[in-house]
Amino acid sequence: MALAHNLGFPRIGRDRELKKALEAYWKGELDEAGLRKVGSDLRAAHWKLQQDAGIELLPVGDFAWYDQVLTHSLMFGAIPERFAPKEGKPTLDTLFGMARGVRESACCGGAHAQEMTKWFDTNYHYLVPEVQQNQQFKLSWEQLFEEVDEARAQGYKVKPVVIGPMTWLWLAKTKGAEFNKLDLLDRLLPLYGEIFQRLAKQGVEWVQIDEPILVLDLPQDWKNAFERAYNLLQREPLKKLLATYFGGLEDNTGLAANLPVDGLHIDLVRAPEQYPSILDRLPAYKVLSLGLVNGRNIWRCDLQKALQTLQHAHERLGERLWIAPSCSLLHSPVDLAREDKLDAELKSWLAFAAQKCAEVATLAAAINQPGSRDAAIAESQQVQQSRANSKRIHKAEVKARLAAVKPEDSRRHAPFAERIDLQRARLDLPDFPTTTIGSFPQTADIRKARQAFKQGQISETDYVEAMRKEIRHAVDFQERIGLDVLVHGEAERNDMVEYFAEQLDGYLFTRFGWVQSYGSRCVKPAVIYGDLSRPKAMTVEWISYAQSQTQKVMKGMLTGPVTMLMWSFPREDVSREEQARQLALAIRDEVVDLEAAGIKIVQIDEAAFREGLPLRKSAWQHYLDWATEAFRLTACGVRNDTQIHTHMCYSEFNDVIESIAAMDADVITIETSRSDMELLDAFERFAYPNEIGPGVYDIHSPRVPPASEMAALMEKAMQRIPAQRLWVNPDCGLKTRAWPETEAALKNMVEAAQTLRETV
Ligand code: GLN
Ligand code: ZN
Repeated sequence: MALAHNLGFPRIGRDRELKKALEAYWKGELDEAGLRKVGSDLRAAHWKLQQDAGIELLPVGDFAWYDQVLTHSLMFGAIPERFAPKEGKPTLDTLFGMARGVRESACCGGAHAQEMTKWFDTNYHYLVPEVQQNQQFKLSWEQLFEEVDEARAQGYKVKPVVIGPMTWLWLAKTKGAEFNKLDLLDRLLPLYGEIFQRLAKQGVEWVQIDEPILVLDLPQDWKNAFERAYNLLQREPLKKLLATYFGGLEDNTGLAANLPVDGLHIDLVRAPEQYPSILDRLPAYKVLSLGLVNGRNIWRCDLQKALQTLQHAHERLGERLWIAPSCSLLHSPVDLAREDKLDAELKSWLAFAAQKCAEVATLAAAINQPGSRDAAIAESQQVQQSRANSKRIHKAEVKARLAAVKPEDSRRHAPFAERIDLQRARLDLPDFPTTTIGSFPQTADIRKARQAFKQGQISETDYVEAMRKEIRHAVDFQERIGLDVLVHGEAERNDMVEYFAEQLDGYLFTRFGWVQSYGSRCVKPAVIYGDLSRPKAMTVEWISYAQSQTQKVMKGMLTGPVTMLMWSFPREDVSREEQARQLALAIRDEVVDLEAAGIKIVQIDEAAFREGLPLRKSAWQHYLDWATEAFRLTACGVRNDTQIHTHMCYSEFNDVIESIAAMDADVITIETSRSDMELLDAFERFAYPNEIGPGVYDIHSPRVPPASEMAALMEKAMQRIPAQRLWVNPDCGLKTRAWPETEAALKNMVEAAQTLRETV
């Protein structure tokens, strides 16, 4: 019998119950018992839901109060000194302290939170473990064992999920004296031994060990350490399923197939091509778990196609075949049944976590009792066909336009050196021109007005006037403090992607399609379901209105194609690059319309440019090529004297600087203040030719830096980039800030620019 199992279920709850409970707890409105009750109710509901869907072996350990990597750090006792409880065991508040930082109080000093970063190439963020050379590990957190008991008491057959020792160490950051993290492996492994022994005593048969780093380019010493680690763990009781996901094993295939464990899970959604070679190399005693249902997107699985692979695998593997989603369903929204307002046809194409479990179970049943699920398979096929042929998806005009794109469409008419002279003549800006990244504070009033408008409580006219008032306020303020290039402030935008997605054809929106981003934060990505086009101008009225309020230059503000794509659920029936090109053409029209309306500078934000990089280096160039091409296709419809800006945050530029240069934006603004301008090294080394605005202050904090501090940062910038090519601006948009600190900081920033003009 092929076994249906799951690698992990979203913990947030279909109504984001966990989010709400966490935030109430942090505010002191819910006590710990209340919070724990919400957690156990969610776990119980999710196990039941999975079991009802037909999953036979249920994950435990996928629940986390904040983040599963953080739970492991606590379990191993890897609690940085600044959070270590003075006495006794760590508590939930220790965990939240590590996640969110601890404020300084009368009794105790403060402690900054652990760093957070993206989990592989997903939009989920984990808390980076901190380890020191003399790091000791000690079993310090009982959650996993408690939840195993809890599930078993409810009658479920469970498979605990742990992050493997190699992946946990890989993700950790060393603190203090430099050393090789791998040296800690021998100290860490005994803990896994202890954990497995305890789980075995609890009656567990299988454990899932997640080692997603096996889909990365691994250094040789890490490959060797994999063998050493698993040879040691081999002695421990329990059957072990090694889970890999988010890509193919490639050069790690032999390594992964031969580790002394009892089963291997592979992701056949991301890397279907690895199936035959793994099947060939897998030792005859091992279970092979095939991840055929996409855990990272919202489309229904093509069951017929999955079944073909499974039938083949079943002939070869028999009882040793397991079936699962490609990765943990953490990255999917919870339950499509909740979508009561979605158009029936669109809804019929989708599957969230609950539905994906049912798909896995259907596949297993179809294998185990041939013929038993013919109706479901036929229905799935019909859905695939309806989607493939739907007029709502395929638009001849969009395809024709894409096909007609010529190489010169993604090239500016003149090289930068010529353009910049024309732009300088037209814009007439001082040296060290000052600007901001786009958004001004999204105040409660703004959000209230939008809410009221969406609920029909105020008219469109009233809403537009409320937003225009915000624009006037932003313009007045910028004029008053003497900024050179103004922005309208983005008051009318809920979110930099959603705002545009709502105005493009080819996007759909869910009401409950929330996915955890980090801790209690969730995102509800828009869904690209069809060919993308722009029915009408999206921003021209707002930006023109803003321009009409000032004699100064007003910068138009758009989100770029790569970021639109990365922060949406993409289609699977066409490539990412094709979707990026469709987006590029749609936004290009907006750029051209802004220019025609008299706007002299247009900024195209590409915040997600770098995070789109594939996990494997060998795939980078292809991505960089189409991503830069999409940006240029967006930007290059304008005259030489129209200035194109782009903005990127959280970026490390060293390894992609060539592509940043290939984007050929006239000005790029980047986040640099926290790195003390070191991020500019890459630009210096490459002799990056265009203009740069290195952020002079961190917008993530309410702190107002003095003008002298910002001027000093600019001096550092000037050591790397010629002064004539530098702009002065904050690190990023100001939407999360309040007005008082925004005003104070920007005043200081303008003063810093003035000082520079006088002294340089
Ligand atoms: N223009 C956007 C803003 O200012 C850019 C945001 C971003 O880069 N994340 O809010
Ligand atoms: Zn930014």
